[in-house]
Amino acid sequence: MNKMKFPGQQIGEFSITAISDGYLFASLDLLSNIDPMEASKLQQDAGANDPSSIHINCYLARGKGRTILIDAGAGGFKQWGGKLKANLALAGVQPSDIDAILLTHAHPDHVGGLVDSSGEAAFPDAELVVHQHEVSFWEDDGNLSRASERARGNFLFARKVFDKYREKMRTFTDNEVLPGISAMPLLGHTAGHSGYRLESDERSLLIWGDIVHFPQIQIARPDVSIAFDQDPLLSAATRSKLLDVVSSDKILIAGMHLGELGFAHVERIGKTYKISYEI
Ligand SMILES: [Zn+2]
Ligand SMILES: [Zn+2]
Repeated sequence: MNKMKFPGQQIGEFSITAISDGYLFASLDLLSNIDPMEASKLQQDAGANDPSSIHINCYLARGKGRTILIDAGAGGFKQWGGKLKANLALAGVQPSDIDAILLTHAHPDHVGGLVDSSGEAAFPDAELVVHQHEVSFWEDDGNLSRASERARGNFLFARKVFDKYREKMRTFTDNEVLPGISAMPLLGHTAGHSGYRLESDERSLLIWGDIVHFPQIQIARPDVSIAFDQDPLLSAATRSKLLDVVSSDKILIAGMHLGELGFAHVERIGKTYKISYEI
């Protein structure tokens, strides 16, 4: 049987595949700095079927003798996503094949797939690699006590996931995470939000985590943040700076909410930017 075709890119020795986890359902009202009508029009102009749904991608990186997963989707948390495991199987990968999981951050739509329906580790043989600031933020009792009711659930969920992987968890504070893969702090979305840059044989790819949730809106309007951003102003500043860099340096990008096509370039058009997917 032919393996199902997922969006993929070859970066030197690394073969990278975008694995869909499905969708989460949000609202354009969560965006700041933009009128919901205008946001809706940008979505419609881009051909979005459901203007307020957000696609969730995970990335599989195979190469240099390793099988690495970058983020794990929502795993059905709040009925979001949950398709990662089945789609990995279609790509020919079983959970026990994954030897490392790199986390961009610990929001439930990125760590939900790390535990299975019985609450146990879904990738029992994998090392979990995450920025030290991300772990200490979610595990801080003072932060938990100040959290809103909605955010409280995120704290408890992140803690549960960290507990299940505790013995195989590796936190980092600088850039080198694995051979050919370096972390890039991307401030504002969460305390330890990190992108990952894969480099091999003069090619590179930046997986930028949650720099955007609605690419057709936020790449055109980098000043638009979403309620999921812990610091909306800092997130907007990081987004603007990064869009400048990736468009000037023509860097291939991937992102957990970039859309089903998974890989893109960003082009500067006057004072704004435009996304061009790799197809
Ligand atoms: Zn997030
Ligand atoms: Zn997210």
